[in-house]
Amino acid sequence: NKNIGVMTSGGDAPGMCCVVRAVVRQTIASGCTPFAVYEGYQGLVDGGDMIKQMAWEDVRGWVSEGGTLIGTARCKAFMERAGRLNAANNLVEKGIDALIICGGDGSLTGADKFRGEWPSLMNELVSSGKRTEEAVKRFRHLNIVGLVGSIDNDLSGTDATIGCYSSLQRICQSIDFIDATAFSHQRAFVIEVMGRHCGWLALMAGVSCGADFIFIPENPPSENWEDEMCSIVSKHRAMGKRKTTVIVAEGAHDMKLNKITAVMVKDLLAQRVGLDTRVTTLGHVQRGGPPCAYDRMLATLQGVEAVKAVLDATPETPSPIICIVENKIVRKPMLDAIAKTNEVAGNIEKMDFEAAMRGRDAEFSE
Ligand code: ATP
Repeated sequence: NKNIGVMTSGGDAPGMCCVVRAVVRQTIASGCTPFAVYEGYQGLVDGGDMIKQMAWEDVRGWVSEGGTLIGTARCKAFMERAGRLNAANNLVEKGIDALIICGGDGSLTGADKFRGEWPSLMNELVSSGKRTEEAVKRFRHLNIVGLVGSIDNDLSGTDATIGCYSSLQRICQSIDFIDATAFSHQRAFVIEVMGRHCGWLALMAGVSCGADFIFIPENPPSENWEDEMCSIVSKHRAMGKRKTTVIVAEGAHDMKLNKITAVMVKDLLAQRVGLDTRVTTLGHVQRGGPPCAYDRMLATLQGVEAVKAVLDATPETPSPIICIVENKIVRKPMLDAIAKTNEVAGNIEKMDFEAAMRGRDAEFSE
């Protein structure tokens, strides 16, 4: 009988509640005891009521809830060893030595660091007199399993992160709504979408909504992008199109790393093409609302697999993350996926596009 903790960390994403529900119920079905850690790593550092035992009925109806009902936070204290020592002490107090964490790359990096430090944290708890040798004896090893919850779909090694398809659906729905006005008034709309340094949401929204032009960080436009965009938009108008849609990813920039903003694009369309143009920044509606069916399924299958991975783990197994690759739920070493993600993101930031795209290609052909 293991005590297994589940927490959500970093930015919220639709499907996180489904993860908690699946982990709680699979833990109980496996004869173990589930605990929810509230408010991300802050709950781990604070302990007490922030770490609660969960019952089957506690997560009833959570399959269709948006955001995360156990809360999430960005926690400075956990970045310091002193904070992680408190977190370790709180876990020992509750008898928990396995954690399933649903979050982005930052949360998973923090989790693996915690696991690496765990033996020395146990020694420190004993040497500082907080815990006896006897009390920490059964906590020799911390078992960590990661699930990727993010609307950005920005983690290497998995085809989809939990939340990305709900967000994409929300973006497409919003663009459909905006299209009514665009068509009626023959207007142009420049839509800014989230995604940090990843253009997946912008690209897929553009494909799904028939955008005229899309700006993403992975593939910055040519040096004369202003001319190119205006000529494409004019061509579409000449072919009889009554509306224009341009999508700008949050992290979009040109070849020289100058940020491309929705307002810049709007001014160009207004001044050079003569279109009545508006900007719509979708903002946090992209992160809210109930998860779509795909995210509910992904979160549930991955939550179940995460509990299985906890029960299979040995001290020698590297911490896994649960991924989906070509429609199969698989486990991968957490640190490899994070390293690859950082490499690709770093390359994009450094404008080393060739290497970045090679990184992506390697990922796709794995
Ligand atoms: P998102 O993709 O939504 O930003 P994220 O998980 O990457 O999610 P972060 O803010 O990077 O979000 O991380 C969440 C929390 O994880 C941090 O506030 C911090 O408590 C912890 N964390 C992140 N990186 C580390 C690290 N290197 N060491 C220890 N803790 C960390």
